[in-house]
Amino acid sequence: MQKIAILTSGGDAPGMNAAVRAATRGAIARGWEVYGIRNGYAGLLADTMDELHARDVGGIIQRGGTVLGSARSPEFQSDAGVEKGLSNLRSRGVDGLIVIGGNGSQTGSYRLHQEGFPVVGVASTIDNDLYGTDVTIGVDSAVNVTLEAIDRLRTTGSSHQRAFLVETMGRNCGYIALMTGIAGGAEVIVTPEREVEPHEVVERLGAAYSRGKTHAIVVVAEGAKHGARAMMDYFKEHRGTIGFGLRLTTLGHVVRGGVPTAADRVLATRLGAAAVDQLASGTTGVMMGSLCNTIAATPLAEIAGRTKPIDCALLELARVLAQ
Ligand code: ATP
Repeated sequence: MQKIAILTSGGDAPGMNAAVRAATRGAIARGWEVYGIRNGYAGLLADTMDELHARDVGGIIQRGGTVLGSARSPEFQSDAGVEKGLSNLRSRGVDGLIVIGGNGSQTGSYRLHQEGFPVVGVASTIDNDLYGTDVTIGVDSAVNVTLEAIDRLRTTGSSHQRAFLVETMGRNCGYIALMTGIAGGAEVIVTPEREVEPHEVVERLGAAYSRGKTHAIVVVAEGAKHGARAMMDYFKEHRGTIGFGLRLTTLGHVVRGGVPTAADRVLATRLGAAAVDQLASGTTGVMMGSLCNTIAATPLAEIAGRTKPIDCALLELARVLAQ
């Protein structure tokens, strides 16, 4: 291995830069040349890559987003797209690729691996829905920003006897909703994995109001069947049963734009460096993740097209504790 390339793909996640820095410097320490591909697979197809030196990745460990840029590339999902990507890598003389991204991105990695190209994935998405890792780069930051918002909403909710519906990010995965609902003491948590029907939410809010609560938080994952906005419309029709005043807050992209937490920087650093070691070992076609706080390489074949379930027992715990 003499020349490798790195790309970041899918939704940006706080900590991606720390992974780029670790992979770049780890590879340079081995005497390899490193190329940064701009804007994920779209940049691979456009053949936009520049050499990265140690100084190029200085001062980025604390920055959110990704200095390499990211994109969603429908073109890369076709056989012709994968072929073009491979051809660009080979004509540049690249002999190993590191893909930092989530589920879709690692499915792309798997396609390259199937074509015989040495590729190693790094688990990075705020959704934390990747199989093969307990945590992904970015989720700790996103959970903490979401939690801070919930704490603030609870304070103002208490002053006005209001219930807040908070829509969290996470695509089809309820992990962020679950974690922030638990840590924020939510009265109700609604996730795609375990839906709560609007009439049941109304009942639970009404009961909480009757028990003398001064505020209530309902966390709704963006992928839930009854989205926060639809649920709000339903609530308005049943205002009398609920008791609380009602407000809706959609957090959206604000939760993934911030500074990466220490946990995300450390995880990203470990995974980025481990990806280089993995390329050097010659066993590729794997994704680097963290299982039981140990860095682990899981075959991309096991990851592609699969998602990790959330711990639904925690939803029941949250329900019991919302007394
Ligand atoms: P996040 O969920 O955090 O946004 P992700 O990696 O899951 O991250 P996606 O938009 O699903 O984000 O995928 C990113 C990119 O990966 C896609 O735009 C596409 O270029 C590539 N990709 C996704 N699925 C495939 C596939 N089946 N084959 C090849 N490439 C794919």
